[in-house]
Amino acid sequence: MILRFYGTRGSIPVCNKDTKKYGGNTTCICVESSAGDIIIVDAGTGIRELGGSLIAQGKAQINLLFSHYHWDHIQGFPFFGPIFMKKTVLNIYGPADEILAEKALSYQMTMPYFPTNLSNLPANITFNKLKKTLTIGSIKIETIVNNHPNHTRGFKFIENNRSFAFLTDNEVHAENGKTPYTDFVEFIKGTHLLIHDAQYTDDIYKKKIGWGHSTFHQVAKLAGDTGVRELMVTHHDHSSSDKFIEENLKEIKRKYHTFKIEGAADGKTRRF
Ligand SMILES: [Zn+2]
Ligand SMILES: [Zn+2]
Repeated sequence: MILRFYGTRGSIPVCNKDTKKYGGNTTCICVESSAGDIIIVDAGTGIRELGGSLIAQGKAQINLLFSHYHWDHIQGFPFFGPIFMKKTVLNIYGPADEILAEKALSYQMTMPYFPTNLSNLPANITFNKLKKTLTIGSIKIETIVNNHPNHTRGFKFIENNRSFAFLTDNEVHAENGKTPYTDFVEFIKGTHLLIHDAQYTDDIYKKKIGWGHSTFHQVAKLAGDTGVRELMVTHHDHSSSDKFIEENLKEIKRKYHTFKIEGAADGKTRRF
């Protein structure tokens, strides 16, 4: 299983000299199974570059999972090259608790916001309700409900006893949250790598309680409680510079020594 990051920024893409290291594209990761199955999570702006790479590799069978439909997780979809190709077979899996994926995507591809409608795309697209668990090729995927203002799912990918958890847009200690902290610990336990939203510092969080995001310290504590070998923080705030992210990573590294700590960055790859 190979994991590649194409977008790790939260809320809105950024492009300036201070965000080059971690990148400015909004959320998109690509997981490739050992047999070559392609599973994408979220269609933030990072999916544009991923689309070009899949076309170059001749990959026409694609699976796309949505954690939720906030703007920063769908805004790259109309610029995902494979949807304009007839040979593409795209299986979309999205939460169906508030709105269907087909509706959410068709709303943003409506005039005057976009000149082409979802229903006119040449690709063969099917829409599926995201269930608690699903299997794609040799990869088993489990999901958990995140604490976020709209229905959002976190994911666990498992192949041949190797696994990682990807929880973006999640407030681990949300007051009156849908999922208690102990359930997140149970869900993540046993995985090798945890990738988790750490959009805020503890100070900034005090003004953003209930916004559905976590802090560097909260997710480091979570990683420690689950026994993972590595933590990667993601959904970097659009106002966070590389320097700011590094300073906060250093701070949690001083406190936690039992697992590796890194910032997720556009272009990074992990093999399992
Ligand atoms: Zn987001
Ligand atoms: Zn969100």
